[in-house]
Amino acid sequence: MRIVLLGAPGVGKGTVAALLSQKYGLPHISTGDIFKEEIRKASPMGLRVKAIVESGALVPDSVVNDLMKDRLSRTDVRSGFILDGYPRTVEQAKAMDSFATPELALNFSASRRTIIERLSGRRVCPKCGAIYHVSNNPPKKKGICNGCNEKLITRKDDEPAVISNRLDVYDRVTRPLIDYYRSRGLLAEINSDCPIGKIDRIIEQCVKALSRVGNNG
Ligand code: ADP
Ligand code: AMP
Repeated sequence: MRIVLLGAPGVGKGTVAALLSQKYGLPHISTGDIFKEEIRKASPMGLRVKAIVESGALVPDSVVNDLMKDRLSRTDVRSGFILDGYPRTVEQAKAMDSFATPELALNFSASRRTIIERLSGRRVCPKCGAIYHVSNNPPKKKGICNGCNEKLITRKDDEPAVISNRLDVYDRVTRPLIDYYRSRGLLAEINSDCPIGKIDRIIEQCVKALSRVGNNG
């Protein structure tokens, strides 16, 4: 299955993608995580995108498209993939159609209030990428990753001033993707405005939508 996840930052894509990835045995590919890892390593790509990512702006289409063309040519995506954060512009969606056409786009939505509350309390593990929330989904030991014992961090782009920029960028540049996929008959709407204790409800909506796509285990 070739799936893309759409929706504003903080709507819960990464959290659900990790669960769907386990359920279907498909790689979860997050362009945001790839960029953050390159920034952490201070690689040439990381140094190039650092200021952009930390300000909440988007990395140029050509850079992301080249990265994903290469990533989606690897053998681990032979049975499909779950993309989280790509495509993020109509230009990226058009480019992607030339090397890997999605079978379904799951469009996650939640109220702006929910989104801001989620982004403000998000904490992540810099080592394994696990996603937590200070109150909705806290780790067992305060501030420490359950899986690898690493100290959790607040993403630079989850600072209040940057959150508002990211939501504006989403509205202006990414939201039009909804119509792009709807007009191609590939869109499924997912209401992700449920508390974390009811995440099964979100997964059920995804599973139902994915049953339209063949070979979904
Ligand atoms: P995205 O990948 O769309 O930016 P995340 O999956 O990182 O969003 O989730 C943003 C924050 O919201 C995280 O702190 C996560 O723990 C929390 N979160 C995710 N899903 C839910 C949910 N259903 N209810 C409450 N909090 C959630
Ligand atoms: P995310 O973790 O998905 O919120 O992404 C974090 C940041 O990485 C974004 O705010 C962008 O700066 C950059 N980024 C991730 N994916 C893309 C993309 N498809 N196009 C452009 N920039 C991206």
